[in-house]
Amino acid sequence: MKYRCLVCDYIYDPEKGDPDSGIEPGTEFEDLPDDWLCPICGVGKEQFAPVTEEEEKTLKEEEKKALDMFCYQCSQTAKGTGCTVIGVCGKQPTVARLQDNLLFAIKGISAYLYHARELGYTDPEIDAFLERGFYSTLTNVNFDAPDFIKLALEAGEMNIKTMQLLKKAHIKTYGEPVPTEVPTGTKKGHAIIVTGHSMKALAELLKQTEGKGINIYTHSEMLPAHGYPELHKYPHLVGQLGKAWFDQKKTFVKYPAAILATSNCVLLPTDEYKDRLFTSGVAMIPDTTHIDDYDFTPLIEKALSLPELPEEPGETVLTTGFGASTILSLKDKIKELVEAGKIRRFFLVGGCDSPLPQAKYYTEFVEKLPEDTVVLTLACGKYRFNDLDMGDIEGVPRLIDIGQCNDAIVGIDVVAALSELFGLEINELPLTIVLSWMEQKAAAILWSLLSLDIKGMYIGPILPGWANEDIINYLVSNYDLKPISDPEKDIKEILG
Ligand code: SF4
Ligand code: SF4
Repeated sequence: MKYRCLVCDYIYDPEKGDPDSGIEPGTEFEDLPDDWLCPICGVGKEQFAPVTEEEEKTLKEEEKKALDMFCYQCSQTAKGTGCTVIGVCGKQPTVARLQDNLLFAIKGISAYLYHARELGYTDPEIDAFLERGFYSTLTNVNFDAPDFIKLALEAGEMNIKTMQLLKKAHIKTYGEPVPTEVPTGTKKGHAIIVTGHSMKALAELLKQTEGKGINIYTHSEMLPAHGYPELHKYPHLVGQLGKAWFDQKKTFVKYPAAILATSNCVLLPTDEYKDRLFTSGVAMIPDTTHIDDYDFTPLIEKALSLPELPEEPGETVLTTGFGASTILSLKDKIKELVEAGKIRRFFLVGGCDSPLPQAKYYTEFVEKLPEDTVVLTLACGKYRFNDLDMGDIEGVPRLIDIGQCNDAIVGIDVVAALSELFGLEINELPLTIVLSWMEQKAAAILWSLLSLDIKGMYIGPILPGWANEDIINYLVSNYDLKPISDPEKDIKEILG
């Protein structure tokens, strides 16, 4: 029998099991271990209820009745609750969805801009675009679908400018990243785990914890911090614990450390670690301590009051910190290897990781790639495969971690440099982009890549829910955007 999570509606289907948590297909709900957690929201088995046959029928009917649009931003809204078929103002569903799409891309840009501003870097041109983008979604302003596509592409261009600004801010403040090996175990001592995306918060914390007997660990998208010389120089920045954002509940319960969440992708904590969780910047969790001014004294005091972690080396060592100049220092070798047929194709596989079962695709895709291919990766999607030992091709690593999601700009710079190196247009290069998306920064990055007219990208784990048939058809016919299917089939289609 299927069971439904009462918190997030995830359905546990015994036929599928939960392979990501080590639960084999065919495992009945009753046979799940007591410490099994909902893979989406992390609650325990007690928060699940059986799905009756009647409910299953209703679920299927509900799935069929997807809304054409949803807008409740003005007082004209249909029945006082929401325009769901067409706007009372005349707004068409595709326009409503393109407005949402623009807002999502703007949210992504804002996140990168926020972190650049944290380091003192701003750009009035980007600010002006954000205003115009927001304004265009106000009631009775713009009813023109093609213009919203134009605005989305402009958002993509602005996102490139924003990622460049943030990259400049990171490099000027913390140095050019260098490839760095990062241990994944624990060192004896008190500990703070830092999750999120803010290098500024981590840098301030490293300063304030110097000589205090506290080890600092990164989690999820903070891993690339180890590659920046001005952060790596602190000997108490000792390693990485856990993987992508959605393992927080497992990782943070496992290690009795104090935790700092510096940005998005923080989960509501369980009671087991709520009193050890602190937030800073935009992140905010009710009933936990928020630190506004980078004065981490309460977090440090908490870490010192907790038991020490044991000395326990991890099984893998991760390598991060490939900046554009490191990769491009290999460009002559890369040219030689491509011309000699020793590198057949480059893949940029990355983006957000997601707990959806379909995200297994990315592990299998990279595992099944032939040995004459090179994979560039970024963001937390890399945790699907960054523990694989893929070796190198005559000194060129086969797995190159370029950093956080905003470091997509490094990928864009490398692609532009390869295009110049080989005298080919981007779409003629032996390169395929395979994206995974979860939240709105990925939407901004998708539009950045489309604004560069990159064609033939693969996208998953599912197609964006805000894109209706019209929008998908537009993306397919203009950009040859492809949903991921089966790793083997896709690789065959790409490599022939
Ligand atoms: S802006 Fe238009 S679509 Fe949105 S709630 Fe008002 S009438 Fe409805
Ligand atoms: S890549 Fe996306 S999903 Fe992953 S931690 Fe960053 S913002 Fe969150």
